[in-house]
This record gives sequence, structure tokens and C-alpha cells, in this order.
Amino acid sequence: MSSAVNRGRSCATDAYTALLQAEDPEQKERQQALQQVVQQALAQQRRGQAQQLRADVVVTIPVVFHVVYNSEAENVSEAALLSQLQVLNDDFRRLNADTATTPEYFRPYAADTKIQFCLASIDPNGDLTNGITRTQTTNKSFSYGSDNVKYAEKGGVDIWDRDQYLNIWICNLGGDIQSNILGYAAPPGSRAVNDGVVLHYSSVGAPPANNFKWNYNMGRTATHEVGHWLGLGHIWGNGSSCTDSDGIDDTPNQRYESAGCHSGIKTSCNDSPFGDMYQNYMDYSDDACMNLFTKGQADYMNTILATSRASILNSLACTGSLRSDFETASPNDTLIIAGNSIIYADASAGLRPTEWYWEFEGGVPSVSTERNPTIMYPRPGKYSVKLSISNGSLSSTEEKEDFVHVTVSDLVVYPNPATDFLTIEQPARIKVLRVELVNKFGQVVIDEETRDRVLRLDVRDLSQGLYILRIKSSNGTEVKRISVLR
Ligand SMILES: [Zn+2]
Repeated sequence: MSSAVNRGRSCATDAYTALLQAEDPEQKERQQALQQVVQQALAQQRRGQAQQLRADVVVTIPVVFHVVYNSEAENVSEAALLSQLQVLNDDFRRLNADTATTPEYFRPYAADTKIQFCLASIDPNGDLTNGITRTQTTNKSFSYGSDNVKYAEKGGVDIWDRDQYLNIWICNLGGDIQSNILGYAAPPGSRAVNDGVVLHYSSVGAPPANNFKWNYNMGRTATHEVGHWLGLGHIWGNGSSCTDSDGIDDTPNQRYESAGCHSGIKTSCNDSPFGDMYQNYMDYSDDACMNLFTKGQADYMNTILATSRASILNSLACTGSLRSDFETASPNDTLIIAGNSIIYADASAGLRPTEWYWEFEGGVPSVSTERNPTIMYPRPGKYSVKLSISNGSLSSTEEKEDFVHVTVSDLVVYPNPATDFLTIEQPARIKVLRVELVNKFGQVVIDEETRDRVLRLDVRDLSQGLYILRIKSSNGTEVKRISVLR
């Protein structure tokens, strides 16, 4: 018998995902919905109807390492973390030293994924960081079942905004290590509080920075788990059968996981002549015996980055710069009645600004140096808003044309006359409850209840003529004359 730690890798991502789905009924729906989007995008690419989503652009994902340690041995060195980042970059860009170990017959499938990683230099508060947090904990160990490592109140560290960072927690997965669980990842579609990768501390980085003497000391656990975080499944699918699949076309159908270090051709599901691709990062081979992602896997991960994880590609976390942006304090509060006010919210990214200079066309006051000013609009019209920010040395400006729409009435109805659709839009603070369209004989031809701010009525089946639109809202009942043209 081999020793416990060397009897084969294990990863808890499937079990963890099942747990997330059991705890949160919407987790599965979110995963299925985005799966649909990804499959549509991939199908479009295959049919050549859309430009390849990421084409030849190299994309960069900012990373933060959260080291959570009880003993000093668990306090992974900076050298090991930098080594881990290097392994991720080498493996994802196919710059790994062991590409020669990929058998000749699998080399045509091997991919440079065009995905790379950088260590964050700006933290979520806009302050400078080295991309590493270190937290001493009283917890002797962590497990995927509790997921405690992601919560400060449970002895871990809270996540940094997952739209800007790939969070990688490093800890003692002691509760799991008996079953050789080296890591786990939250798949795309997970909630914002737990969306990242967890690694066992002794799997981090490659020798000499990783000096643990076992089969998982080359940093490939992170490569595997980040593959999961970007939507990849295990290469053998979910169960030990040949009827399930990892959903990737160019990975051979494989019955179950590989273990240790194979050589030569090993077949399982009529996948001759080349057999199982046990060299794939999404299998369970030893670190030294895995060395490729396929082009299909690369396309899949890039499609995730073009869809559900797209926001991370706009992150400034590694750039040392800042970017002006703003919104309204209440969502969609840009349509108001004359005489009302809007509260603005600074939504700048990157380094923290120290100065704000707002310009409000049509607003009172027309300029402000507050961070989140309140502005009144006395007259109807469409007005632009401009925000310039600065931190003393760097500055950035964002202007949004026609950002604010100030009306005399509490409702906007257009177009009038209408031919196909009639749009009814009301300020965010007014709630439309019911809309009726009445013809010249007094008959109600359209009757709709609504809770949306914008309502679109289909008038294509109505005959030409004058109609009365009766709108009941939290502001009372309003009547408008509408003509339909044929
Ligand atoms: Zn896995």
C-alpha cells in the first residue's frame, strides 16, 4: 500500500458544488442559465456566425492570495506564492517546461489558453497591496463542507470583490486531507461571497519554493482548480461511466479518474487509438504527469471570461491606475419630475481618489466637490453629467451624455403616434400598477398589470385611430391620448 498522501489526488469541487446547490436553490438555476449562454456562444463560434469571442487577445486575471495559517508551516512563503503565479502563467500559456512530455499524438490538441494572471497591486479600498493577505487563525483546519476559510467571522478571510479579483485562499484543508482533498473551486454562477479557489498549503508553488516531498508539489492543484473556476469539469465527467461527458469535444471520453503517473496508452471508453488523456490538468494524475489543456477547454474558459466572468477583465487591480465612473444612489433613478433631486454615487475603480469634481448640466448646484452629491433639477430636459477624479498624481474623467431625463409629467409615453409598440416609462420612485388602453367606443382593448418601471405594449393588432391610455400609479390615475397609425 502506498502512503495516504500519495494514493491519488482528490478535489472537492464536485462535492462542493452539490453542497452549494443544496444550500441555495438558485445556484443550480444560475449555473444552468449561464451554461446555456456559453453553449450558444460556442455554437455561434463553431458556425462562424460570430467572430471568435476572444480571438487572439491575451487576457489577464488579477489574483489575490489569502494565506490563512495556524502554524508557521502553513504560512506559505512569498516565494511559494510567486512560484504559484508563475506555474499558473506557464500552464495556461503552455510555457510549462514539460510540454515535451505531452505525447506526440495529443500535441495537436494542446492549447495556449491566452489567459494569464497578475498579482493585485490595488486592494478593494483603492489602497496599494502586494496581492497577499496573511491571517493567523485559531482554527486548526478547514474543510470544503464548512467553507469557513472564506469568512472572517469563522476564522478565515472575507472575499475581495469577485468582479475584480480571482480569490485564492490557502489553508490547512486538514479536515479533508485524509481523503486527499487538495483543493476546491466555486464554479461560475456561485454567489459573490464564496466565489474563488481554495488550496491546501502544501500544494502551493513548485520546488524549490515548495519543499514538501509529495506528488502534488508542483503547483498543478491551482491549475486544476482555476480550470474549475473557469467552468471546466473533470475530464472523465461526473460519474464512473462512459455515458457522461465533460462537455468538451476534443477531450477523449474517459470512464473514471486517473491516479498516480501513467505511461503509454491507457484506454477506457472506446477511446482508441490514443486512449485516455491522463496528461490533462483536469484529470487526477500527479503534478509531474499532467501538462496540457486542450483547445476545446481553452475555448470554453475564454467563453466564460467573455460572458459570466467578463467584469474581471475590466479590473484595474493590477494596473496602478484609476478610472472615473458614477451611478445614482438608487438604481435607475435617472428619470425624474422637474423639481426633484438625484443622489449621485461615486463608482470609481482602481486607486482611491482624493478629489472629486462633478459638473451637472441643468442641475442645482451645477458643480460639486462632494463624493456623493445631491442635485436638484428645476427644468425639464435631458442633461449630461461629468465626474473628474484625482488622487493627486493621476486623474480620470467620465462624462455621460443625456444621463438625466427630467420631465414635466410623472410619465413618459412614446412614440405617439405609435405603429408597433408603445413604451411607457415612469420615474423609479413612482410605481405603475395598471395600464388600460381604451378605444373610441369605450372598450378596453389592452389591460395590463405591471410592476416594472418600463412597460412595452404591443399595438400591432389595433386598428388605426385615437385611443385613451389610462395609467394607474402610486401617484394616482393619469390619462393620455394616443394615436395608432396603420
Ligand atoms: Zn477537480
